[in-house]
Amino acid sequence: MSDIIKNMLDFFKSLRFIVLIIILLVGIIPVTFFKIYYLNTYEDNLIQSRIDRLKKVSVVTKNTIITSDYMNTQSSSAVDAELSQVATVFNGRTMIIDKAFKVVKDTYSLNEGNICMSESVIQSFRGQNTVQYSEEKSYIEIALALSSSEKNMEENLFDGVLLMTFSIKDISEDVKQERDRTNIILIIIWIVVITVAVISQLLISRPFKKMAASIDDVKLGQFDRRLSYDGYTELIEVAESIEHMMNRMKELDESRQEFVSNVSHELKTPITSIKVLADSLIMQENVPAEMYREFMTDIVAEIDRENSIITDLLTLVKLEKKTETLKIEKINVNGMVELVLKRLRPIAAKKNIELVFESFRPVSAEIDDVKMTMVISNLVENAIKYNILDGWVRVSLNADYQYFYLKVSDSGIGMPEEALSHIFERFYRVDKTRSRETGGTGLGLSITYNAIIMHKGDIKVHSKEGEGTTFTVRVPLVYAP
Ligand code: ADP
Repeated sequence: MSDIIKNMLDFFKSLRFIVLIIILLVGIIPVTFFKIYYLNTYEDNLIQSRIDRLKKVSVVTKNTIITSDYMNTQSSSAVDAELSQVATVFNGRTMIIDKAFKVVKDTYSLNEGNICMSESVIQSFRGQNTVQYSEEKSYIEIALALSSSEKNMEENLFDGVLLMTFSIKDISEDVKQERDRTNIILIIIWIVVITVAVISQLLISRPFKKMAASIDDVKLGQFDRRLSYDGYTELIEVAESIEHMMNRMKELDESRQEFVSNVSHELKTPITSIKVLADSLIMQENVPAEMYREFMTDIVAEIDRENSIITDLLTLVKLEKKTETLKIEKINVNGMVELVLKRLRPIAAKKNIELVFESFRPVSAEIDDVKMTMVISNLVENAIKYNILDGWVRVSLNADYQYFYLKVSDSGIGMPEEALSHIFERFYRVDKTRSRETGGTGLGLSITYNAIIMHKGDIKVHSKEGEGTTFTVRVPLVYAP
């Protein structure tokens, strides 16, 4: 039993472990992906907003160049001021290239006078302004076509190109810092998720561990040990039903022990008597023949008693076996009762007991002939055994559409109230010596009770000390297995 429960607990443990892994994955994977997504969009947004701003700046610069007639004069304080401001604020290098691809202005002064025929410059002369972003070299390049006058500009007559290059190293730096920060946050989240998962794992497994340990103890036979459980409703329910089962096992274990000790005691008593009787015969010399006969008669009586205990025990054990089945037949119950009474009449006559049978109607029922005969015999035999001289025993038989009712009443010694709940127990006797004198084994009513239960019936007792006893048996007319 406990192995099954242990396996069940092991199953719950592994299930919990799988759940733990799922929690970890669900907790860690989305956060990690979110971090990557967040950093990418963060960088993209920074670059895009920088490009937008630089585009505006380059258009402003272009307009200043056109309005100050720079392409003709090649000098303008307004343009110089504008370019130096762009260089300072946006870390940008500006080159102005004329129609002959000659660099007429370079804020780094490196290329002035040189020819610059880069692709973006050529494209600009064709009227296609370009914006290029190099992630690798961390710069943004903007090339805009220039004209010597606003009129030319309107007519798309280009006299030069404004080429501006801006370093965006600061953005890379910014993204790197952001990455470091999110990495730290991510690690903290990981640690928190793992810690919470591990702690909850420990807390979750604690009741299981406690219960498994209790079950291990039960394995060693401690049925009276209480299971240690708290926490989950399901676990409490499981533990309660296990405890219920353990209590039942404890009761069974106790009743088995009691049965074994009762059986040993009951079987020993006649043997002790036989030994005492035999010993006294052996020890005396020249035993008179009458005494010898008397002792031998007692020894035979004890052997008979031993025999009847063993017979009753075997009957009881057979009845209690789950495999024992009834041999159901349709039986005339009136005939059955009459037969039992006929057999017992001589015994009743010995005490001058009147044996009356009251039959209210003919009853036929689906019952086991041998076992039901045993039930009626036991009850009537007891009614005679525990009766007074010149008393009476009344057996009545009645039925309704569902059951037949057999009542056995007597004018006997009766039983005290407190005994009534025990009389169906094995070896229980109200008065041990009296029962012994009458040859009782204390097993008759246990046998009776078991046989009735097998028929899906029941038995009730009503008794008053000194007045008499009534047993009422109710058995279904149709047997439903
Ligand atoms: P026993 O073999 O001792 O008769 P039973 O199991 O048949 O054992 O009965 C159990 C005890 O119940 C008896 O010892 C007796 O004390 C009591 N008992 C049973 N039937 C009656 C009865 N009709 N009147 C009084 N006591 C009874």
